[in-house]
Amino acid sequence: MKIHLGPAGIPITSKGSSTIDGIKRVAELGLDAMEIEFVRGVHMGIEMAKSVGKIAKDLGIILSVHAPYFINLCNPEKLEASKKRILDSCERAHYLGAWIVVFHPGYYGGLSKEKAFEYVEKACEEMNETVEKNGWNVKLGLETTGKVSQFGTLEEEIKIHRKIRNCIPVVDFAHIFARNGGHIDFREVLEKLESLHLERYHTHFSNIEYTEKGERNHLTLGHKKPDFGELAKALIKSRIREITIISESPILEKDSLKMKEILKNIGYNS
Ligand SMILES: [Zn+2]
Repeated sequence: MKIHLGPAGIPITSKGSSTIDGIKRVAELGLDAMEIEFVRGVHMGIEMAKSVGKIAKDLGIILSVHAPYFINLCNPEKLEASKKRILDSCERAHYLGAWIVVFHPGYYGGLSKEKAFEYVEKACEEMNETVEKNGWNVKLGLETTGKVSQFGTLEEEIKIHRKIRNCIPVVDFAHIFARNGGHIDFREVLEKLESLHLERYHTHFSNIEYTEKGERNHLTLGHKKPDFGELAKALIKSRIREITIISESPILEKDSLKMKEILKNIGYNS
């Protein structure tokens, strides 16, 4: 099994603030993944994406992209702009050599869960057609969301995947934990992922503060909400062959290093 670790965005200990500085810092720390955050908008040109991608490839860093937060595929008025933000992210991802674009699909709003599902499914179908038509080598990653008002349980996303193979669930363990009122059965989650038989998986991990509505704040690993050690144990016993765990902790890469240590302590050797 191969486990890739790294931060959501440029490491906090990076000397420079560019994406390239960030990737170099990730490599320097002995980590091997980084998520490029387009969360406030897609502000990277194609040429820049190509140069960033080349450096990441040379340094052996696996890239992923997080699409903007302002996305709601369940709202007809926001649909076109939302799809464009995701597709712009996909185009950059292709030139970056990033294999997956992660996004939060949307909010149920006044819709029934079934209706919201239909909207997300249709939007995913259309976006996937564009991805295929352009020959972009990227997967659409639907993140499990942290609020009960948001579309995005693991079950909903698995259902989307069964209809559109290029759409895959991105498990955010903290979000599942928050959404379930402070509970997560790692084995059960991993078994659901295994049943998809994907070549590789992409996930997010951090600790989290929550209310009855779901997530509130991301926390550092030490809070054990949820416990990374438990995930690590479940993971090395699982049949998953390749997985990336992106740290969304406030101290980003420092917690990736802690994850690495925890994995090492239970016998995982990278
Ligand atoms: Zn996210």
